[in-house]
Amino acid sequence: MTAKGTPVLIGIPFDAYSSYLRGAAEAPAKIREALRCDTSNSWTELGVDLGAAGAYEDAGDLELDERDAFAAIEAGVGTMLDKGKRPVSLGGDHSITYTIVKAFAQRHPELTIFHFDAHPDLYEEFEGNRLSHACPFARIMEAGLAKRLVQVGIRTMNRHQREQAKRFGVEVVEMLALPAHDKLKAVGPVYVTFDMDVLDPAFAPGVSHREPGGISVRQAIGNLHAIGGEIVGADVVEYNPVQDVAGVTATVAAKIVKELLGKMIGEA
Ligand code: MN
Ligand code: MN
Repeated sequence: MTAKGTPVLIGIPFDAYSSYLRGAAEAPAKIREALRCDTSNSWTELGVDLGAAGAYEDAGDLELDERDAFAAIEAGVGTMLDKGKRPVSLGGDHSITYTIVKAFAQRHPELTIFHFDAHPDLYEEFEGNRLSHACPFARIMEAGLAKRLVQVGIRTMNRHQREQAKRFGVEVVEMLALPAHDKLKAVGPVYVTFDMDVLDPAFAPGVSHREPGGISVRQAIGNLHAIGGEIVGADVVEYNPVQDVAGVTATVAAKIVKELLGKMIGEA
């Protein structure tokens, strides 16, 4: 156990609020499989051995019933936080981040969120669903669950979402403005939410919404390593195995999880 709490993986097999394609519910098992695959060793680039006893834990997948899934996710993540752990959720579509952050905000006021995504996910509502994976950051900000929201890699802004960003004081770092490692510094607790579609689809085709012109895996790792602040939790969402090609995106998602864990453990 590290001083700031052992990171714990939690699989969240939920994709009911994905607006275009289902499939992300199958992601947690595939990411775990890639994380444990013997193709690579257990050391992260920052020199942390994830294979060391107690480096991190795995709580398995939450059992979810679509009807009350959000309440179950909030409770499941909250339980881990109350045990002093640092939950790293494997999604699932991005809608789950709203309910995850609710659990974090109750225990970590003054939260800063670093959000990697091709999309701002700031819609007031999407196709009649206020809980859609296109809306989580509108819900988070209107409820005051975060002190700061910094979005990185955005390349799909429209007028409505630009207005929403302004309304909520979101610090948006669009693709055009990268690199911006200086924006990834925070005072107080940090939550990292990583939507796999921030990556260029050439690196990560296994997503529901492929948006060309994204960051490379190398840039993603550089950004994660550049984070300054105390990471209390994270999620990696929107990996969609149905869209994947020969499992490459699972390998990339596992690499992102690995470097996130290494960052959290190494600096604890
Ligand atoms: Mn997203
Ligand atoms: Mn996205």
